[in-house]
Amino acid sequence: MPETILIVEDEPALRDTLAYNLKKDGFAVEAVGDGRSALASARTLKPDLIILDLMLPELDGFEVARILRKEMTTPILMLTARDDEIDRVVGLEVGADDYLTKPFSMRELMARVKAQLRRTRLIQEEMAKSGVAQVKQEKLTFDNLTINLTRREVTLNDKPIPLKPKEYDLLEFFARHKGQMLSREFILERVWGWDFIGDSRTVDVHVRWLRQKIEEDASRPKRIITVRGGGYRFEG
Ligand code: CA
Repeated sequence: MPETILIVEDEPALRDTLAYNLKKDGFAVEAVGDGRSALASARTLKPDLIILDLMLPELDGFEVARILRKEMTTPILMLTARDDEIDRVVGLEVGADDYLTKPFSMRELMARVKAQLRRTRLIQEEMAKSGVAQVKQEKLTFDNLTINLTRREVTLNDKPIPLKPKEYDLLEFFARHKGQMLSREFILERVWGWDFIGDSRTVDVHVRWLRQKIEEDASRPKRIITVRGGGYRFEG
Protein backbone atom coordinates (compact mmCIF):
# COMPACT_ATOMS: atom_id res chain seq x y z
CA MET A 1 0.00 0.00 0.00
CA PRO A 2 1.45 3.37 -0.94
CA GLU A 3 1.86 5.92 1.83
CA THR A 4 -0.73 8.67 1.71
CA ILE A 5 0.08 12.36 1.73
CA LEU A 6 -2.37 15.19 2.23
CA ILE A 7 -1.36 18.45 0.56
CA VAL A 8 -2.93 21.66 1.87
CA GLU A 9 -1.99 24.58 -0.35
CA ASP A 10 -4.14 27.37 -1.71
CA GLU A 11 -1.91 28.28 -4.67
CA PRO A 12 -3.19 26.01 -7.45
CA ALA A 13 0.09 25.94 -9.38
CA LEU A 14 2.13 24.89 -6.38
CA ARG A 15 -0.54 22.45 -5.24
CA ASP A 16 -0.53 20.75 -8.64
CA THR A 17 3.26 20.62 -8.79
CA LEU A 18 3.44 19.06 -5.35
CA ALA A 19 0.76 16.52 -6.18
CA TYR A 20 2.35 15.65 -9.50
CA ASN A 21 5.80 15.07 -8.01
CA LEU A 22 4.59 13.07 -5.04
CA LYS A 23 2.41 10.86 -7.24
CA LYS A 24 5.33 10.32 -9.59
CA ASP A 25 7.30 9.05 -6.60
CA GLY A 26 4.62 6.50 -5.80
CA PHE A 27 2.66 8.23 -3.06
CA ALA A 28 -1.10 8.32 -2.86
CA VAL A 29 -2.02 12.00 -2.81
CA GLU A 30 -4.99 14.11 -1.86
CA ALA A 31 -4.79 17.86 -2.33
CA VAL A 32 -7.02 20.57 -0.87
CA GLY A 33 -6.88 24.35 -0.90
CA ASP A 34 -8.20 25.63 2.41
CA GLY A 35 -8.09 24.98 6.13
CA ARG A 36 -11.56 23.56 6.58
CA SER A 37 -11.14 21.02 3.81
CA ALA A 38 -7.79 20.16 5.35
CA LEU A 39 -9.44 19.17 8.63
CA ALA A 40 -12.11 17.15 6.88
CA SER A 41 -9.65 15.32 4.63
CA ALA A 42 -7.19 14.63 7.44
CA ARG A 43 -9.97 13.05 9.50
CA THR A 44 -11.32 10.79 6.78
CA LEU A 45 -8.09 10.02 4.95
CA LYS A 46 -5.82 9.54 8.00
CA PRO A 47 -2.76 10.34 5.89
CA ASP A 48 0.80 9.27 6.72
CA LEU A 49 2.00 12.84 6.35
CA ILE A 50 0.50 16.29 5.91
CA ILE A 51 2.11 19.07 3.91
CA LEU A 52 0.51 22.19 5.29
CA ASP A 53 0.81 25.71 3.96
CA LEU A 54 0.66 28.37 6.66
CA MET A 55 -1.32 31.11 4.95
CA LEU A 56 -4.64 29.62 3.93
CA PRO A 57 -8.21 30.78 3.49
CA GLU A 58 -10.86 29.79 6.06
CA LEU A 59 -8.53 28.48 8.77
CA ASP A 60 -4.81 29.20 8.59
CA GLY A 61 -2.14 26.54 8.90
CA PHE A 62 -1.44 27.34 12.55
CA GLU A 63 -5.05 26.72 13.46
CA VAL A 64 -5.26 23.55 11.37
CA ALA A 65 -2.10 22.14 12.97
CA ARG A 66 -3.26 23.05 16.46
CA ILE A 67 -6.56 21.23 15.98
CA LEU A 68 -5.08 18.17 14.26
CA ARG A 69 -2.39 17.77 16.89
CA LYS A 70 -5.06 17.04 19.44
CA GLU A 71 -6.50 14.31 17.26
CA MET A 72 -3.57 12.60 15.57
CA THR A 73 0.18 12.19 15.61
CA THR A 74 0.57 12.39 11.82
CA PRO A 75 3.78 14.26 10.97
CA ILE A 76 3.19 17.78 9.65
CA LEU A 77 5.56 19.50 7.26
CA MET A 78 4.80 23.23 7.25
CA LEU A 79 5.31 25.51 4.28
CA THR A 80 5.98 29.10 5.21
CA ALA A 81 6.39 32.12 2.98
CA ARG A 82 7.88 34.48 5.51
CA ASP A 83 10.97 34.20 7.66
CA ASP A 84 9.24 35.84 10.59
CA GLU A 85 6.78 32.97 10.83
CA ILE A 86 9.56 30.45 11.39
CA ASP A 87 9.91 31.21 15.10
CA ARG A 88 6.34 30.20 15.74
CA VAL A 89 6.67 27.07 13.66
CA VAL A 90 9.99 26.01 15.14
CA GLY A 91 8.88 27.01 18.61
CA LEU A 92 6.60 24.03 18.20
CA GLU A 93 3.76 26.15 19.40
CA VAL A 94 1.73 24.42 16.74
CA GLY A 95 3.47 21.09 16.77
CA ALA A 96 4.92 21.04 13.27
CA ASP A 97 7.52 18.35 12.79
CA ASP A 98 9.46 20.18 10.14
CA TYR A 99 9.12 23.18 7.86
CA LEU A 100 10.26 24.55 4.54
CA THR A 101 10.47 28.21 3.55
CA LYS A 102 9.18 29.17 0.13
CA PRO A 103 10.59 29.07 -2.44
CA PHE A 104 12.02 25.57 -2.08
CA SER A 105 13.15 22.98 -4.57
CA MET A 106 11.09 19.86 -5.22
CA ARG A 107 14.19 17.84 -4.44
CA GLU A 108 14.41 19.37 -1.00
CA LEU A 109 10.73 18.80 -0.36
CA MET A 110 10.96 15.16 -1.38
CA ALA A 111 13.95 14.66 0.90
CA ARG A 112 12.06 16.13 3.86
CA VAL A 113 8.95 14.09 3.14
CA LYS A 114 10.93 10.88 2.97
CA ALA A 115 12.90 11.71 6.10
CA GLN A 116 9.70 12.28 8.07
CA LEU A 117 8.11 9.07 6.86
CA ARG A 118 11.28 7.12 7.62
CA ARG A 119 11.29 8.55 11.11
CA THR A 120 7.68 7.57 11.70
CA ARG A 121 8.42 4.03 10.56
CA LEU A 122 11.45 3.85 12.86
CA ILE A 123 9.41 4.99 15.84
CA GLN A 124 6.70 2.46 15.08
CA GLU A 125 9.25 -0.34 14.73
CA GLU A 126 10.95 0.70 17.93
CA MET A 127 7.67 0.81 19.78
CA ALA A 128 6.80 -2.65 18.52
CA LYS A 129 10.19 -3.98 19.57
CA SER A 130 10.73 -2.18 22.85
CA GLY A 131 8.79 -4.44 25.10
CA VAL A 132 5.61 -5.85 23.71
CA ALA A 133 4.52 -6.29 27.31
CA GLN A 134 4.74 -2.57 27.95
CA VAL A 135 2.77 -1.69 24.88
CA LYS A 136 0.16 -4.30 25.69
CA GLN A 137 -0.54 -2.85 29.09
CA GLU A 138 -0.58 0.56 27.37
CA LYS A 139 0.87 2.33 30.37
CA LEU A 140 4.25 3.05 31.86
CA THR A 141 4.18 3.78 35.55
CA PHE A 142 6.91 5.40 37.59
CA ASP A 143 5.79 5.81 41.16
CA ASN A 144 3.09 8.52 41.05
CA LEU A 145 3.74 9.29 37.37
CA THR A 146 1.79 7.39 34.73
CA ILE A 147 2.20 7.60 30.98
CA ASN A 148 -0.71 6.26 28.98
CA LEU A 149 0.88 5.27 25.68
CA THR A 150 -2.25 4.66 23.70
CA ARG A 151 -3.94 7.87 24.74
CA ARG A 152 -0.72 9.91 24.98
CA GLU A 153 -1.80 11.17 28.38
CA VAL A 154 0.27 11.72 31.48
CA THR A 155 -0.97 11.81 35.04
CA LEU A 156 0.81 12.80 38.22
CA ASN A 157 -0.87 11.67 41.43
CA ASP A 158 -3.81 10.68 39.21
CA LYS A 159 -4.18 14.24 37.98
CA PRO A 160 -3.79 14.83 34.21
CA ILE A 161 -0.75 16.86 33.22
CA PRO A 162 -1.25 18.87 30.03
CA LEU A 163 1.76 18.40 27.77
CA LYS A 164 2.58 19.82 24.35
CA PRO A 165 3.08 17.13 21.68
CA LYS A 166 6.86 17.36 21.77
CA GLU A 167 6.95 17.40 25.56
CA TYR A 168 4.98 14.18 25.49
CA ASP A 169 7.24 12.66 22.81
CA LEU A 170 10.27 13.56 24.87
CA LEU A 171 8.85 12.13 28.09
CA GLU A 172 7.85 8.91 26.38
CA PHE A 173 11.30 8.64 24.87
CA PHE A 174 12.87 9.12 28.30
CA ALA A 175 10.52 6.59 29.83
CA ARG A 176 11.44 3.98 27.25
CA HIS A 177 15.12 4.51 27.98
CA LYS A 178 14.97 4.65 31.76
CA GLY A 179 18.37 4.74 33.43
CA GLN A 180 20.27 5.33 30.21
CA MET A 181 22.45 8.36 29.62
CA LEU A 182 21.02 10.09 26.57
CA SER A 183 23.05 12.78 24.84
CA ARG A 184 21.30 15.92 23.62
CA GLU A 185 22.23 15.02 20.05
CA PHE A 186 20.75 11.54 20.36
CA ILE A 187 17.56 12.90 21.88
CA LEU A 188 17.31 15.56 19.20
CA GLU A 189 17.76 12.99 16.46
CA ARG A 190 15.27 10.49 17.83
CA VAL A 191 12.58 12.83 19.11
CA TRP A 192 12.82 15.64 16.58
CA GLY A 193 14.39 13.84 13.61
CA TRP A 194 17.93 14.06 12.28
CA ASP A 195 17.04 16.76 9.80
CA PHE A 196 15.35 19.02 12.33
CA ILE A 197 16.63 22.54 11.94
CA GLY A 198 17.48 23.58 15.43
CA ASP A 199 20.10 22.82 17.99
CA SER A 200 20.43 20.92 21.22
CA ARG A 201 19.10 23.87 23.20
CA THR A 202 15.71 22.79 21.93
CA VAL A 203 16.16 19.70 24.11
CA ASP A 204 17.16 21.78 27.14
CA VAL A 205 14.13 24.01 26.78
CA HIS A 206 11.76 21.05 26.59
CA VAL A 207 13.45 19.34 29.53
CA ARG A 208 12.94 22.53 31.54
CA TRP A 209 9.25 22.60 30.64
CA LEU A 210 8.85 18.93 31.45
CA ARG A 211 10.56 19.34 34.81
CA GLN A 212 8.17 22.12 35.73
CA LYS A 213 5.33 19.74 35.07
CA ILE A 214 6.50 16.40 36.46
CA GLU A 215 9.12 17.19 39.10
CA GLU A 216 8.20 17.92 42.68
CA ASP A 217 10.86 20.64 42.73
CA ALA A 218 11.96 21.62 39.22
CA SER A 219 15.13 23.21 40.58
CA ARG A 220 16.15 19.90 42.18
CA PRO A 221 15.03 17.35 39.62
CA LYS A 222 14.86 13.73 40.69
CA ARG A 223 13.28 12.30 37.56
CA ILE A 224 15.15 13.87 34.68
CA ILE A 225 18.77 14.16 35.79
CA THR A 226 21.32 16.31 33.99
CA VAL A 227 24.46 14.31 33.28
CA ARG A 228 27.44 16.64 33.31
CA GLY A 229 28.98 17.09 29.90
CA GLY A 230 26.68 14.46 28.53
CA GLY A 231 22.97 14.87 28.39
CA TYR A 232 20.10 13.55 30.47
CA ARG A 233 19.10 10.42 32.30
CA PHE A 234 15.56 9.51 33.24
CA GLU A 235 15.38 7.94 36.68
CA GLY A 236 11.70 7.17 36.67
CA1 CA B 1 -0.86 30.23 0.96
